Amino acid sequence: MGKVYLVGAGPGDPGLMTLKGKGLLQCADVVIYDALVSPAILEMINPQAEQINAGKRMGRHSLLQEETSQLLIEKAQDHAIVVRLKGGDPFIFGRGGEEMAELVEAGIAVEVVPGITAGIAAATYAGIPLTHRLYSSSVTFVTGHESAGKYRPAVNWQAIAQGSETIVIYMGIHNLPYIVEQLTLAGLSVETAIALVRWGTRPEQEELIGELGTIVEQVEETGFSAPAIAVIGAVVKMHSILAGCRPVSS
Ligand code: SAH
Repeated sequence: MGKVYLVGAGPGDPGLMTLKGKGLLQCADVVIYDALVSPAILEMINPQAEQINAGKRMGRHSLLQEETSQLLIEKAQDHAIVVRLKGGDPFIFGRGGEEMAELVEAGIAVEVVPGITAGIAAATYAGIPLTHRLYSSSVTFVTGHESAGKYRPAVNWQAIAQGSETIVIYMGIHNLPYIVEQLTLAGLSVETAIALVRWGTRPEQEELIGELGTIVEQVEETGFSAPAIAVIGAVVKMHSILAGCRPVSS
């Protein structure tokens, strides 16, 4: 019996991969990776390893979640090091918790290696600090693509609007009109700053900066699309101040 390592690949820039994660990729026997893992990270994989794309993007499942878990269990039965590679951090909107629980239930040894989550990295690479003594003492990570009624009740946008000075939304582009409506109904001004960061930390990173009152129209006009992080709050204003000293993709 081998062991499964649930490894966070970070947001894309290979320089943001952890040393621990890279070491595991280099000695893995099998690597099962998701669609959002960047090609630069896949290059780190041991060339002798079996590589399986379990990539699932909204509406386009190449492997169902149950199939992925079953595959991990099977591979761990006759390989020493099985890496389950996930974009960002495995435990942030990555179903890492579910997969790990299924492996534990099947009696498989499993360990998690955290990664830098896209919410933090994409904001940072766009010159936006998520907290700032003058602008924000709190930050919330929330999914814009809820599986309503399935596991938990819907996201409480009103509580988030009122209780968090910075809001970071994953998978929020598709539902942006609804989210903006909910946040403004909850009392956020239409002038509240918002940044959308697409393919954050990769060479092709793109940003769209606006206000809650304008962003939906801007997305329509520019055709801005997923995968992107939305950052909402006064910290977004730092974007122009820090424009000259952004991190550069390695
Ligand atoms: N576990 C991942 C998130 C998985 S959910 C993490 O910790 O980062 C997938 C969503 O993450 C995407 O729809 C998008 O909203 C966001 N995302 C992932 N990589 C991204 C990137 N490089 N730039 C911007 N958003 C990204």
